[in-house]
Amino acid sequence: MADNFAQSVKQQADILKIVGEYVRLKRAGAQNYTGLCPFHSEKTPSFSVNVGRQFYYCFGCHETGDVFTFIQKIENVTFPEAVKTVAVKCGIPLPKREFSSPEEAAESRQRAKLIELHEIATGWFEQQLRSPEGALAREYLTGRGLSDEGIAKFRIGYAPESFHALRDRLQSVADSETLRASGLFSFKPQEDGSPGPLYSRFRKRITFPIANESGRIIAFTARALESGDKAGPKYLNSPETSLYTKGNVLFNLDKARQPIREANFALLVEGQMDCISVDLAGITNVLATSGTAFTEAQVRLLSRYTTRVIVNFDPDTAGANAAEKSIALLTEESFEVKVVALEGGLDPDRYIRERGAKEYGAALRAARRHQDYLIDRARQLFPQRTPEAKIKALNFLLPHIRRMPSRIARDEFASDAAQKLGIDSALVRQELKEAAAKRRDSITPASALTRAEQILLQAFSSAQNSEIYRVAEASYRQHEADFAKMRADVRDILTQLRSREDSADPLQSLSEPEHRQLLAGVFVSVHGAEPRPENVEEAVATIRRTSLEQQQRDLRAALQEAERQGRPEEVLTLTRQIHEAARMLRELD
Ligand SMILES: [Zn+2]
Repeated sequence: MADNFAQSVKQQADILKIVGEYVRLKRAGAQNYTGLCPFHSEKTPSFSVNVGRQFYYCFGCHETGDVFTFIQKIENVTFPEAVKTVAVKCGIPLPKREFSSPEEAAESRQRAKLIELHEIATGWFEQQLRSPEGALAREYLTGRGLSDEGIAKFRIGYAPESFHALRDRLQSVADSETLRASGLFSFKPQEDGSPGPLYSRFRKRITFPIANESGRIIAFTARALESGDKAGPKYLNSPETSLYTKGNVLFNLDKARQPIREANFALLVEGQMDCISVDLAGITNVLATSGTAFTEAQVRLLSRYTTRVIVNFDPDTAGANAAEKSIALLTEESFEVKVVALEGGLDPDRYIRERGAKEYGAALRAARRHQDYLIDRARQLFPQRTPEAKIKALNFLLPHIRRMPSRIARDEFASDAAQKLGIDSALVRQELKEAAAKRRDSITPASALTRAEQILLQAFSSAQNSEIYRVAEASYRQHEADFAKMRADVRDILTQLRSREDSADPLQSLSEPEHRQLLAGVFVSVHGAEPRPENVEEAVATIRRTSLEQQQRDLRAALQEAERQGRPEEVLTLTRQIHEAARMLRELD
């Protein structure tokens, strides 16, 4: 059964290893590891993985769950797909798949089909490149210095001129609706409203597959073999599909992610060809943004692997603008950014071909801090020595200064700029004070539970045959009225924990996401050992004290009312009850 299978996968899976493939984790206590949250953008780590209980929790965005939830969210897949992914990662053989709803099954089938289509298309394009029709394309690639190994590594192919050859190849694999959804074809809507026949989107083009993080091909970018109006744009990309969202993908991340982790920095270039050349030159921690500035989603994706980047964009105006935008986004997310400007105004691909990999490596080592690069850029843009030009240069730099999260770094950047631009530094400091004031570090406080509440939540989360659980359960039965006065969400959680099946995971037994978040927060915030029975007794005493104090306040209010309305019997009863409450309070102390 699928459920049993998921359970057995979960028992065998190591959450630290699975999450660690996406998040850089550091040890933070006996059971906890922390890192930058992959689900929201942040500068200081608030994401925790708890090894003992095999779950994760983020103090920033409160995302929480187990190894399956993690894969579901990060890979954007359904639960069965997540179970499968984890099983594959752990080398557990798969049973037949089952889905919770027909829609889910259909969606998953569609996705699998689209991936299959892309895989077949890739192989077919590769085959076309080797065919006689691919001769011109092969010539072009050889001219760009690409070896057969390089072509094979990046699975570069050729889309022939034919309008229908790819469709003919894929027709037996999927119906026309699925083919249309693949983005591999174009079609012209007909007068009768029908979508019209499918024809190849990519024709007479060299094809570069674009893979997702796990190496599955999900789109293509295709370079025209000929120039001129008839050939269309130089590069043509797949449209966005259910597999492919342009701003969410970094070209080559599937191959580069391990080298990036090892080198602890990523080299960022503009185009796929640059990326391929650099990789084949032996610098394998390289990624391409696909000719545009970075998106926030890409920054977040990258931050799972490193927070250090060297940017090497084309030196033309478009490249410089893209570089500035990327620097802005990256520094805002606390990345350490360096910039390479290659001598002779060359792009990485040509630089490597003309001067070799060794020289390119040397250029990378000489990369300058982004602050220095930007100050030089400001001087290039506003070269005059007039006060007006200096102010313009400063205004160009200020947004970049403001973006840096560290106050010290901002100060340093500003005084560097002041010195190099020859600006009166008092003026800069004034500007900077404002800039600094506008920054704020967002810190989300953990939900304020008392120590007693935390201990009781922990105790009732323990195995039901443990001593700690039995102590807690006995106290609960004895003082149910006091427990009933606890804050509502904690009380609800305790009720659900107490009624769960013995083998059930405490987090999974809670139905409300808010409850799961609260409990997960307790597990990761209480460092060290589980509470002991005497801690539970103290916690119960605290809960009872709070409850009794509340009871006393209520009774006193009722007493006043009874005295005011002149009801002596009630006054007597209430007085006795107040004394009783006071006696119990004294006993507790
Ligand atoms: Zn988060």
